[in-house]
Amino acid sequence: LGVVGFAQESIPDADSAAVGIPVQQEMTGSSADSSLYPLSAERQEQLHAYSQFTDLWRFVSFFVGIGSLLLILFTGLSARFRSWAQFGRKKIFSYWIFVILILLTDYLINLPFSIYRSFFVEHDYGFSNQTFGQWFGEDLLNLGITALIAIIPMAFFYWLVGSFRRWWLWFSLGMFPVMVFFVVIAPVFISPLFNDYTKLTDKQLESRILSLADKAGIEGSDVFEVNASKQSSKVNAYVTGLFGTKRIVLYDTLIKHFTYDEIGFVMGHEMGHYVMNHVWWGLSIAIVFVALALWLTNQSIRSVIRKFSGRFGFDKLEDIASLPLVLVYASVILFVLQPITNGASRHMEHQSDIYGMDITGVSSDDAARAFDKLSAYNLSDPDPNPIIEFWFSSHPSLKKRIEFVRSYRPMPDPN
Ligand SMILES: [Zn+2]
Repeated sequence: LGVVGFAQESIPDADSAAVGIPVQQEMTGSSADSSLYPLSAERQEQLHAYSQFTDLWRFVSFFVGIGSLLLILFTGLSARFRSWAQFGRKKIFSYWIFVILILLTDYLINLPFSIYRSFFVEHDYGFSNQTFGQWFGEDLLNLGITALIAIIPMAFFYWLVGSFRRWWLWFSLGMFPVMVFFVVIAPVFISPLFNDYTKLTDKQLESRILSLADKAGIEGSDVFEVNASKQSSKVNAYVTGLFGTKRIVLYDTLIKHFTYDEIGFVMGHEMGHYVMNHVWWGLSIAIVFVALALWLTNQSIRSVIRKFSGRFGFDKLEDIASLPLVLVYASVILFVLQPITNGASRHMEHQSDIYGMDITGVSSDDAARAFDKLSAYNLSDPDPNPIIEFWFSSHPSLKKRIEFVRSYRPMPDPN
């Protein structure tokens, strides 16, 4: 759901869109084998097909999401849910019942699409071997957590809309501590509901990473290995949390496929995010764009509500039945503004690449191979269409990142 999800996606530590360059293929090699790295010819073809699919799906999921909210609005379902929810005597309970009804309906409308995208497609490309029951169980757990949490921004929103003319400003500012709270509690309470976080079994690797963290000035952090392969064979790593909850997390897939030097560079990059306060920058940028989106919403939403009040079954923004319309506004505006937020993200990613080169002193071959492997294991297009990159990519293309590490000369170690 738009407003809250946006902030999570803006946190640059979630390096989900890692990309790489294709490996030169020996054309004499058997095309029937499915070697993941170096990419077999068959996997190379899959990489292109998967990239095309994910590009197309950005639009499909956007329009399905908007369409589902509009359906809930124009059928008068939202107004009906609001009336049903009023049996909760306390206001906060009727809010809660309402938001759960909206979430459930939206979930059910989107379910065929998410089953296709997240279950079937991920299986077809060999990323997942979860059973349908396992996948669905996790999806429901995710829905349950959202249902518990969504009441916070929703109640805050309608209280402000009913009380202040500049509600859009106060909402954005008020969401800052809420988002910080989730950055702090998510790694400790939410993530372990889905995966196991354990101390690294490879003690040599652990001491390498800890000495790198020490060099980066990240004190008192714990290094965890997460069994991410439970859901997907994709490779990733991150540094997350704030204050006492900060932690360095390596996917088991990264440990399995990457050498010490390659892992060192990946972790140097992640530590760069932490040291350069990219979490704080990401949150701040998110707040600015949420404020902008809500300000724009405020310009016209009331006249739209008046115009369609007969169809919607409500006639003012202060009515909680307007929630789906607010989410349509926020989603459309944030979708249109994505090139700016992603531009800021790509800048931070590049800064982290520089940091990773400097702090590890990694050879350009090892750094380039790390990117190359990300592309191969995650089937990410190393050289996407420039418009797609401009609009949707939170990371520079891997072709650019490889060109950079090949040309960059790390700063000499001051020690
Ligand atoms: Zn990054």
